[in-house]
Amino acid sequence: MSKLTGSLKARQFTESVIREMTRLNQLHGGVNLSQGFPDFPAPAVVKDAACAAIQGEVNQYAVTWGARGLREAIAREFTRRYGVPVAADEQVTVCCGATEAMMATMMAIIDPGDEVVIFEPFYENYGPDAILSGATPRYVTLREPQPSGSSGTEWTFDPDELAAAFNNRTRAIIINTPNNPTGKVFTRAELEAIGALCRKWDAVAISDEIYEHIIFDGCRHVPIATVEGMAERTVTINSLSKTYSVTGWRVGWAIAPPSLTGAIRKVHDFLTVGAAAPLQAAGVAALGIPESYYAELAAAYRRRRDMLLDILDRRHFTCYKPAGAYYIMTDIGVFGFRDDLEFARYLVKDVGVAAVPGSSFYSHAAAGRTKLRFCFCKQDETLAEADRRLERLVPAGAH
Ligand code: PLP
Repeated sequence: MSKLTGSLKARQFTESVIREMTRLNQLHGGVNLSQGFPDFPAPAVVKDAACAAIQGEVNQYAVTWGARGLREAIAREFTRRYGVPVAADEQVTVCCGATEAMMATMMAIIDPGDEVVIFEPFYENYGPDAILSGATPRYVTLREPQPSGSSGTEWTFDPDELAAAFNNRTRAIIINTPNNPTGKVFTRAELEAIGALCRKWDAVAISDEIYEHIIFDGCRHVPIATVEGMAERTVTINSLSKTYSVTGWRVGWAIAPPSLTGAIRKVHDFLTVGAAAPLQAAGVAALGIPESYYAELAAAYRRRRDMLLDILDRRHFTCYKPAGAYYIMTDIGVFGFRDDLEFARYLVKDVGVAAVPGSSFYSHAAAGRTKLRFCFCKQDETLAEADRRLERLVPAGAH
């Protein structure tokens, strides 16, 4: 084969379907409910802090593992909120978004042949992350609730299936709570069960908690680092992106035990050197926002969730009500299309609404064939416009 081609690794995954949907949406002038970025402004104090940092000449490289002020703010906030001590100098690494924090962590701790347990459906990046880091993924199914709610409203996993996924080769498990795409918020009991397996098999928990503050209906976010014996074997990943509506800034971080931080920092340094220095300075302002901001953020998102649930319900989708994050997973079986991709393309081209085909969250496309994910990090007018366009949709039997 010609050498003018992608590597074996790069050939194992396709371009991001989520970002492809955003591009298709632009082409067709649709309403974008696919990629999870807000269409409303970021908080003024955060934007002002970024402008002030640029004007104040914070324009050169920050320390490669993150500006001291931001690392201290990250450590202080995690300890204040969850009671887990974090040493900014030894445990915090600032990266280019949670995306890079996840990639740097996996490349830092995984050797080819190591197994990584991943709950499925999963945030689409974890698949390529596993391939690029040489990990062998072991998927554990998150089962959807019955839409009628007769067997509960939560996505659940079978503890025996989870236990069977661990063995001597297991290096890590990836957790994402609140979860994209399902909206599941892992309970303390579930995290304790995961923690017990990590301790038994000497595995690391890599926990993506980027939707920490977007949580509804009295649910509480539990970081797995707060489970007994887990702080020393957990890498907690987070970012400014979702909490402060600045997904384009690309500032995220990993909080890791000192035993793993050195490796993460080395990989991070050679991947990207560092995240944008003035935006790290603005991150200090963001993390200092008064507590009321977070309650308002969650309340605003709950309202948007309910608005989109109502719209999708009226437009014949079967919805799985999320307890956190800003997505609604739906079932599209009633529309009678061959699969999720065909339906998603029809939706963006002919109806003018972009959403993400369910198969992009599963290792085997067939498992997501009747699913579609919508996001609700959008202004009321955007959601109302989507509602108007979706009026054209009719269930298969009603043609
Ligand atoms: N992790 C999850 C679960 C996400 O849903 C997203 C974005 O949608 C990311 C990470 C990306 O985060 P960042 O913008 O900080 O790279």
